[in-house]
Amino acid sequence: MLERGEVANSWRTERWDSLRLLTPNWLSRLPGLRYEGPDPDGYMTMGEITEFIERFAARSHAPVRTGTKVTSVRAADGGYQVTTDRGEIRCRAVVIASGAFNSPVVPPFSGEVPASVEQLTPFDYRDPAKLPDGGVLVVGASATGLQLAAEIQASGRTVTLSVGEHTRMPRIYRGRDVLWWMDASGVWDQGYDEIEDLTRARRLPSPQLVGTPERRTLDLNALTSMGVELIGRWAMVRDGHALFSGGLRNVFSLADLKLGRLLDTFDEWALTSGRDAEFDAPERLEPTRVPDTARLQLDLGRGEIRTVVWATGFRPDYGWLDVPALDAKGRLRHSHGVADVPGLYALGLPVLRRRRSTFICGIEDDARAVTDHLAQYLAGRG
Ligand SMILES: Cc1cc2nc3c(=O)[nH]c(=O)nc-3n(C[C@H](O)[C@H](O)[C@H](O)COP(=O)(O)OP(=O)(O)OC[C@H]3O[C@@H](n4cnc5c(N)ncnc54)[C@H](O)[C@@H]3O)c2cc1C
Repeated sequence: MLERGEVANSWRTERWDSLRLLTPNWLSRLPGLRYEGPDPDGYMTMGEITEFIERFAARSHAPVRTGTKVTSVRAADGGYQVTTDRGEIRCRAVVIASGAFNSPVVPPFSGEVPASVEQLTPFDYRDPAKLPDGGVLVVGASATGLQLAAEIQASGRTVTLSVGEHTRMPRIYRGRDVLWWMDASGVWDQGYDEIEDLTRARRLPSPQLVGTPERRTLDLNALTSMGVELIGRWAMVRDGHALFSGGLRNVFSLADLKLGRLLDTFDEWALTSGRDAEFDAPERLEPTRVPDTARLQLDLGRGEIRTVVWATGFRPDYGWLDVPALDAKGRLRHSHGVADVPGLYALGLPVLRRRRSTFICGIEDDARAVTDHLAQYLAGRG
């Protein structure tokens, strides 16, 4: 196992200070290791998740070589030649577990934002005190964007949030964490071969959730109540002006509709499994409030916006993979973790085998299935 940094590197180095997992502690499980502390319904801080993964590495005696960066993987003699900054390795098979979130995605028009406006990604952001004084435009309203918008607004700065497609979720539904419902109802166990549009499922925005001690729901209505201004999707920059799409009403309706369908699925499962009486009564959330007027442009040279925070997603980095295994968009071509190049495997990608693959609690089953295939391959039957 080669790791360029330390064990749990992404949690140590690529996250902001206040971040907590959005999955509750009882869902943080790795093979043979579960959360056993006093607060199963709480959400781990970055220090706690780092410590949890370190504990797993020690317990599983994983043969990790830290401080070893892979700079190239290429096919050689029916196997692979792996070049690292600490030497060469020959192997028959490679499992790519280098993460799905290696680089922040920033649209190309960010290059046209005037130099007077500072631009940050979630990798640069640590806490609001380090931002320049003045207004902040957060771009993207999924888990990262929502959390940063709330934190920055609470620090006393004025925040404008640019909202595109998003996945709305309440933190608690009928008395249980919404992710409890995803787990119990089987929604998270829907497999890659059962999902109608797998490409789309793999690209869905992260749920609008935050892990806080008070287990609060953080949605667009909560941000509006805090004073955050909502505007549409940022489409382009023209002559120093940021131009935004209209149609917030449609974007909100779609997210509300999808949320309603998800809650219907939970309610139906509660009834058919005979457990309905265990939970509070079904409820529906207030529709997302549409602002009376949403601005369609902002003059970036006027000084109103001093910082842009791009919360527009992340992508994996395969710059080191010298094997023809990527599609035209740079994504790894694979079916349930098995790449279409013999001896090449992947773990840790969104909806790799099931919907839960996107999260830490998905790795156990995925790793077992992928290593079964790998073992057969090595035994010459794959
Ligand atoms: C902001 C954010 C919040 C999240 N919150 C949650 C959450 O609350 N709950 C949850 O279950 N999931 C959450 N996730 C998803 C979670 O990060 C993944 O499910 C999990 O990290 C996958 O683990 P991994 O080991 O596959 O990838 P990673 O944790 O990304 O680990 C990949 C490792 O590969 C190393 N690496 C990369 N390239 C190389 C190279 N060339 N050579 C050597 N080493 C390399 C990296 O240093 C890194 O340590 C979140 C993700 C993000 C980005």
